[in-house]
Amino acid sequence: MILIKQSADLSRYLLSHKIAQKNTGFVPTMGALHEGHLSLLKHAINNNEVTVCSIFVNPTQFNDPDDFKKYPKTIESDLVALEAAGTNIVFIPGVRDIYPAGINSLPEFDLGNLERVLEGTFRPGHFQGVCQVMSRLLKIVRPGNLYMGQKDYQQCMVVNRLLQIMNDGVILHTVATQREPDGLAMSSRNVRLNPAERIKAASISDALHFIQENAFAMTIEDLRDKAIAMLEAQTFRVDYVEIVHALTLEALTEIEVGQPTVALAAAYMHEVRLIDNMFLPT
Ligand code: AMP
Repeated sequence: MILIKQSADLSRYLLSHKIAQKNTGFVPTMGALHEGHLSLLKHAINNNEVTVCSIFVNPTQFNDPDDFKKYPKTIESDLVALEAAGTNIVFIPGVRDIYPAGINSLPEFDLGNLERVLEGTFRPGHFQGVCQVMSRLLKIVRPGNLYMGQKDYQQCMVVNRLLQIMNDGVILHTVATQREPDGLAMSSRNVRLNPAERIKAASISDALHFIQENAFAMTIEDLRDKAIAMLEAQTFRVDYVEIVHALTLEALTEIEVGQPTVALAAAYMHEVRLIDNMFLPT
């Protein structure tokens, strides 16, 4: 495994080793790696000649400065895990390398409704930040295959839109959410939960399971109310629980057979904001 810190060095390395775009898998991360990240890497490594993993905590996608400041950093153990997984190249750029002209006048992307709902409502500017960093990373790494987690479902849809805009032929592969034994979706932010909060946090997946299991037994309104009550009973402060069309993210009035449908939740356990989602069995 080689570690590269400058985009120019990465471009030069890929060029000199004649690493063709179509054979490169790319896993962008913000570090503090866990089994979720490693499952993306496994997919990339198994299906590409070369796998590049980036670690970059992107300042432009944090709408909460405190969240950015407290984002966990575990670079030493990340490198050990990446090497053990069989990663070929780790790219750890600095902010100036990713944003040579600074972060104040970055391009805007036309994401339509995708950035006006769910996370977009509660984290204004977040998805513009995601597109700013992803467009830059994709231009540097030039992968054929990109691997991202279903855990960040709306982010996958936004990045798919970005790939259409960029039109470079990159294929997005969405990988299933990896969970702890009690159902909690793995997340770098989970380490910020104290032991009592960590136990209560599993109710986010319980609430989504409840929606899955009762999809055709209750109205959407009742499903949401019950899920919110389950979360609040465990001291979550709920940003949203929504049941939406899985291809458009538009709110539904009814769950219909054959209609791709996903339930999504975002909620704060004390000061840690967690998100999760599950498809409904339609
Ligand atoms: P992050 O470091 O949080 O930006 O995540 C980097 C990538 O890992 C994103 O594509 C995430 O969707 C993905 N990811 C995060 N958590 C999980 C998980 N529990 N299971 C699968 N993928 C995940």
